[in-house]
Amino acid sequence: MKKTDVLIVGGSAAGMVAALTGKSSWTEKRFMLVKKQKEMMVPCGIPYIFGTLENSQQNIMPVDNMLENAGIESIVNNVIAIDKALKIAELESGEKIGFDKLVIATGSTPVKPKWLKGADLDNVFMIPKDKVYLDSMNNILAKCKNIVVIGAGFIGVEFSDELSKRDHKVTLIEKLPNILSLAFDEELSSRIAAIITNRGVTILTNNGVKEIIGDEKVFSVKLENGETIPTDAVILSMGYHPNTELAKKSGIFTDEDGFIAVDEYMRTHEPDIFAVGDCAQKRDFVTRRRVPTMLASTACAEARVAGINLFNINVVKTFSGTIGIYSTAIGDTGFGTAGLTESRAADEGIAILSGVFEGVDRHPGNLPDAHKQLVKLIAAKYSGVIIGGEVIGGTSAGELTNVIGLIIENRMTVNSLLTSQIGTHPCLTASPAGYPLIKAAEIIAAKMRNS
Ligand SMILES: Cc1cc2nc3c(=O)[nH]c(=O)nc-3n(C[C@H](O)[C@H](O)[C@H](O)COP(=O)(O)OP(=O)(O)OC[C@H]3O[C@@H](n4cnc5c(N)ncnc54)[C@H](O)[C@@H]3O)c2cc1C
Repeated sequence: MKKTDVLIVGGSAAGMVAALTGKSSWTEKRFMLVKKQKEMMVPCGIPYIFGTLENSQQNIMPVDNMLENAGIESIVNNVIAIDKALKIAELESGEKIGFDKLVIATGSTPVKPKWLKGADLDNVFMIPKDKVYLDSMNNILAKCKNIVVIGAGFIGVEFSDELSKRDHKVTLIEKLPNILSLAFDEELSSRIAAIITNRGVTILTNNGVKEIIGDEKVFSVKLENGETIPTDAVILSMGYHPNTELAKKSGIFTDEDGFIAVDEYMRTHEPDIFAVGDCAQKRDFVTRRRVPTMLASTACAEARVAGINLFNINVVKTFSGTIGIYSTAIGDTGFGTAGLTESRAADEGIAILSGVFEGVDRHPGNLPDAHKQLVKLIAAKYSGVIIGGEVIGGTSAGELTNVIGLIIENRMTVNSLLTSQIGTHPCLTASPAGYPLIKAAEIIAAKMRNS
């Protein structure tokens, strides 16, 4: 039987980062990683193989190279059982691997709702992180003119925009009143909807899918209001559920939502077994409620925490909760969001003040590449602690959203933001006198004085 000090199950974002951080923190220990697929997709790059990129080969994550360079052994196989008492994992091949510490990073798979009639018809697709499936899907979609995408979260929006670049006629359907409504407040999501509509995607909101109609193959989608949309293919983008069957059958606790229960060091209830990434329980940074947010950014942060704490609890390094930080780009417009939206704060009963400022991301604004930059900040009303922010701008929107994420994580207040020093340059940033992040904070500060 093979033996290792640390065994990692799953070789995507969380598994790879847990292995790399773990090995760099515990250099003398042996690390081994088991992954199901030989070639791993960059998960966040998947939408782009349906438009911008030529093929899925351009979206491969160099996992094997990175692991090999770090001195980590990797095996392509499927872990089918874990004996937590004897500390042995069993592979589908029959091979057994003994371990001292185990990190479960089994990720998530797309949801296919059981209630959705017609979801098993030909040309109805989901979006797994599986190259073989995606290649076949891409080949079939290439022959389709009309495509319906169901679910207007980030993935549905990115898919719709990418497919429309290849001249498909795309209809994006969302049950909620706005697209991206879990990430953006209405004032921003309606602007994003306008951008996508201008680029040729038809958006239908406030109208869920009722049924997918077809014979062997799909030929239309029936909506809740009775409307029927003829189509050649359907893409379901209706969320992901955590892969926890292996943990469950091995007696590792999961919570009521099906995620593996973990503490702030990413330890499960079992000694020496950690869980990270999409399969591991999440708690919102601000509200402390359990949330199903699944992001590569969170997965990698959790994986770093687990890697650092594998053989000794390094008391200062804990995972203090999920801050949903997402960004994406549609054409030359970038948009991003971090933390709570105003409407989510209202749902949670958190009194807030918000400030919105629209400026330009260069100074003077006549410089080439200048782009409007809108920042909305959300602060807890009585403490002034920043709990959320949204950005629409040029390509810098992603990094500006990350700055807001750091502001939230470090519990900065409106006042501390007002006195912060921000580096600026005409060709790279907004003006120091009109920096939208600071101006939005000023608007909240004025409201705090007057309330
Ligand atoms: C289309 C798309 C776009 C996205 N875009 C973004 C984005 O822009 N930004 C962002 O932050 N997040 C994004 N995400 C989310 C992000 O991809 C996930 O949060 C991230 O992949 C989670 O990583 P993970 O390692 O936890 O899980 P996964 O990526 O799901 O990987 C788990 C791996 O474990 C393997 N595995 C499972 N069981 C076993 C077993 N028993 N034995 C061996 N291996 C096993 C699986 O095959 C899989 O390879 C996107 C997701 C998708 C699908």
